[in-house]
Amino acid sequence: MKIKTNQEKKVKRLFTPGPVQIPEIIQVALNKPLINHQTVEFSQLLMETEELLKDIFQTKNDIIMVPSSGTGAMEACITNFFSPGDEVIVLDMGEFSARWGLIAQMFGLEVHWLNAPVGIALDPAQLIKMLKSKPNVKGVLFVAAETSTGVQNPVKLLAELTKKHSNALVLVDAISTLAISELKTDDWGLDVVIASSQKGLMLPPGLSFLSVSHRAWVIALKTKMSRYYFDLIRLRESLKRGEVPYTFPSNLVLGCNVSCKFILEYTYKNWLTKYRHMTEIVHGFGQTLGLERLVKVGYSQGITVFKVPYKTTASKIKDMLEKEHDIIISTGIGMLKENVIRVAYIGDLTYIDLNHLFYSLSLVLKKLK
Ligand SMILES: *Cc1c(COP(=O)(O)O)cnc(C)c1O
Repeated sequence: MKIKTNQEKKVKRLFTPGPVQIPEIIQVALNKPLINHQTVEFSQLLMETEELLKDIFQTKNDIIMVPSSGTGAMEACITNFFSPGDEVIVLDMGEFSARWGLIAQMFGLEVHWLNAPVGIALDPAQLIKMLKSKPNVKGVLFVAAETSTGVQNPVKLLAELTKKHSNALVLVDAISTLAISELKTDDWGLDVVIASSQKGLMLPPGLSFLSVSHRAWVIALKTKMSRYYFDLIRLRESLKRGEVPYTFPSNLVLGCNVSCKFILEYTYKNWLTKYRHMTEIVHGFGQTLGLERLVKVGYSQGITVFKVPYKTTASKIKDMLEKEHDIIISTGIGMLKENVIRVAYIGDLTYIDLNHLFYSLSLVLKKLK
């Protein structure tokens, strides 16, 4: 017999904030023969998928797909909704939120930084103060959840304050939030929301999504910035006809179609509730093992960041979990690299998987003590 068990095949479980464990029904769709992107079949798939995504984004706005990882969608925001010299406010609370500002500066925008201490959400009073002192601000850019620390921003409140004190566009990187915790694009008045295939939508990396409000489109028509591949206006014109302006990862669109249906059939509300329960369970397990969470209040769902205990390092814990238990977690990024471990439980993972993870983690921690 040549058939191997998962154990022998060394099948690994992903507890990482992207890529994530892909449900079998989506994997089957991804493995289907490729569809050419210039066919009626693809055209119909594209349009249907956009409609499904609207339900996930909770919006009536256009959804634009771009063939890139999430960072490409961030860059598209900068080049489509702003002109060189425009002033923007960036809420910097870690690696991913800072990325907004770095891209903006690269394209000649004037960035006003608002910094929050590591592991703590920004004090909204700071935003009000900044909006009042910078009347020309054209955009406020922030993350819904900062994936490097596990902080969840009060997105609704930040958007409300921005609208109340300025005419600036609200741009939200919801890459680690969409289909993981609550995000209401229209109800909360979010102009641009971005997401990416390899997180909450449980797909391979390579496709990103932007929801764009009418107000943002009006501005995009007037901005002066060079752009070609990420020209959202050209993309919108094509997508409206069910076409794409260049080769598209059609299998990812197919996977996305199935993913949306899978989540919506489960019902979106129950889907998010599942992640909330898992978050509580992970917190409980962490406590049992004596692991301290980096974020005490205002934490994200689907990803939990723990401080590394004793004198060991995040890399040692990560490597041993992989070598001895076939479990993949993440270390910190940037300054936090060796000081925290990041455990994500997004995608096709069950409560049993969480048990397995924490049992393995307890063995690893005992060895490293
Ligand atoms: C993962 C992530 C990104 C980066 O996306 P890529 O797909 O790696 O380019 C950006 N922002 C947040 C909040 C993320 O979690």
